[in-house]
Amino acid sequence: MTKDKRIKAVRVRSRRIWVPVIAHIFALVLVSALAVASLVVFFMYTCYMCTEDGVITFERIARRYEDGDMEALEESLPMIIIDEDGNETVLNGEDTCSREGYPIMKFSRSGFRGVASAYTAYADLVSGNATPSDLGFVMFNPYDRDSEIFFDINDPDRTVGDTLVLPFWISRELKDGSTLYCRVNLDITYSDLFFMGAFYAMMGVIILLAFIFLITISITNARRENRLVKLLFSDPISNDRNWLWFVSTGRKVMKRGLKSGAKYAIVSLIFVKYRNYVLCHSVEEGEKMLSHVYSVLAASLGKGEIAAHSTEAKFPMLLRYKDKDDIKRRLEGIIAQLEKIDDNHNHKFAFQAGINLIGDASDRISKRIRIKDIDFDKEYNNASAARITLEESDESSIAFFDEELVEKQKWIDRVGELQDKALKCEEFKVYYQPKYDPRTDRMKGAEALIRWDSPELGFVPPGKFIDIFERTGFITRIDNYMLTHVARDQKRWHEMGLPCVPVSVNVSRAHFVENDLADQIHKIVTDEGCPCDLIEIELTESAFFDDKSMMVNTIRKLQEYGFEVSMDDFGSGYSSLNSLKDLPLNVLKLDAGFFSEVEEEGRGQIVVSEAIKLAKSLNMRTVAEGVEVREQVDFLAEEGCDMIQGYYYAKPMPGADFEAKMKGGE
Ligand code: C2E
Ligand code: CA
Ligand code: CA
Repeated sequence: MTKDKRIKAVRVRSRRIWVPVIAHIFALVLVSALAVASLVVFFMYTCYMCTEDGVITFERIARRYEDGDMEALEESLPMIIIDEDGNETVLNGEDTCSREGYPIMKFSRSGFRGVASAYTAYADLVSGNATPSDLGFVMFNPYDRDSEIFFDINDPDRTVGDTLVLPFWISRELKDGSTLYCRVNLDITYSDLFFMGAFYAMMGVIILLAFIFLITISITNARRENRLVKLLFSDPISNDRNWLWFVSTGRKVMKRGLKSGAKYAIVSLIFVKYRNYVLCHSVEEGEKMLSHVYSVLAASLGKGEIAAHSTEAKFPMLLRYKDKDDIKRRLEGIIAQLEKIDDNHNHKFAFQAGINLIGDASDRISKRIRIKDIDFDKEYNNASAARITLEESDESSIAFFDEELVEKQKWIDRVGELQDKALKCEEFKVYYQPKYDPRTDRMKGAEALIRWDSPELGFVPPGKFIDIFERTGFITRIDNYMLTHVARDQKRWHEMGLPCVPVSVNVSRAHFVENDLADQIHKIVTDEGCPCDLIEIELTESAFFDDKSMMVNTIRKLQEYGFEVSMDDFGSGYSSLNSLKDLPLNVLKLDAGFFSEVEEEGRGQIVVSEAIKLAKSLNMRTVAEGVEVREQVDFLAEEGCDMIQGYYYAKPMPGADFEAKMKGGE
């Protein structure tokens, strides 16, 4: 999984922690609601079953009353109607005393306890001395239709054996706006009651268990998630936060800080040559050192700043800063402190930091960047990209990420994209730069130098791509390509009878380490039908490596095949004298640097003259590179330098021009 994907996975996971919690809460609520609903439904059903008769009767009475069907009402329920004096007027549907205009009152026989008591009850109700629930009667008042109507269909004197009678009131709004109340009895046998109780108890236990189960699961899950998050975000070496924590926290901290006007620097810091330290000591000691580094970094943090230990010897940091100088000074201070962390002072460590400045609001506005669009991972990657530019050195240093770096990276990518096609389509051209004898001014040799004539990139000098090819390893194919083309040209010129001179071809370090290099070169040259003495092999000092015997073997073998071997860029900064001592080279090429530093001419001349003498005493010929003026030529001629390769005589030129030069007999 790529780093980016890993980070995203964690981001998703850290958000998902809430998902099970929410799911559990939801499940709890759902189970509770279902349980309550089922209990209510069951309760209502039970009530209905136990009061079904009463409810049906109640409904029937209500309907009949609404229809005004008094007769049917009276028939269906034995009724008695009394006048206001308490005299009976209707009994069981028969008008016993028709007196128009008199208020009448009706009540059921079931609630009948004698006319007088009914009347009294009604009077009590009207005067407020009795409540509906005190009564056991049906009472209609046809003269006041809005009034409440009370009704009891039960026999209050009923005696029950194994049944529990629970009276309660139900009501219903009638069409005329009045309300009909009815007291019905809930008749439950004791056995039903027992089963109901058992059912409720069982449901209660189930709900309780479900609750306990869900709560336990929630707690366990939350704990597990917590442990996982801890594990995911902690670093075993520093015993503190790790890279994943840095990314997930960093993006929040930074965005919050940016909103309040702070400026942030994302730093990618590395302990240089940590592996070497581990190699010389132990993994345990190495990790101790990393933990020490981390504690120094953590102690240097201010408010709103974070740091972590990432993989191996890398330490990402998110710091606030005022301006570029301020953050540079601060990082230099931290690095100076880190360099001395070895308590025994046996080691001086080196640390390199890449810094990416996120900038303030005005910066962002000018670059049209919105806070929410800032990709923290990408910004950190930029800091790392800046740090990687320092990797060639082992010294402590700091590099800032900038647009130039982006352009450089884009260029590297573009070169990488186009290189194979360029090789296949022969876009690489061989240029020849002649070497002259300064005493006779005659051409004695040449160096083959590459140019890239690219349809996409234009005409590109080697300085813009050789480094890249050296890093990617593509250089070996380039070296072979150049060798093939030079051998091919030389063979042609040789066959044309031109006064051919040896042409040197550069072989890079990546190539030089191959132990059959001499055979490879020999095969390429002879396959083209070119005599080996027309080719010289140039090796830079930087290409020399520790295995001296293998290098000596390769050089000897090349010489046996008839190639001359030269040391390129002598004096350009590597430990030259040692290489000279050990390697049986034919030619020493003095670096152009000797002839470009004008102000140090006096001292330079001494070094050049001594170098020429040294070469002579080692039986080597000398070539001076980068010579641009006559005085230098005269000086070199006087000192006995064998050849000069420089703009004074000629710049590198296409093969056709070089051929013309040879034809001209230069
Ligand atoms: P180098 O091998 O040291 O090549 C000499 C460089 O010095 C050439 O640059 C040449 O054009 C330049 N030069 C020669 N005389 C003068 C002068 O009087 N004044 C100045 N200012 N410059 C002078 P060039 O061709 O740009 O090559 C640069 C480097 O690229 C070469 O340095 C070599 O390291 C590398 N390179 C060029 N062609 C090849 C190749 O075919 N294979 C490999 N491996 N490297 C190559
Ligand atoms: Ca060279
Ligand atoms: Ca050179």
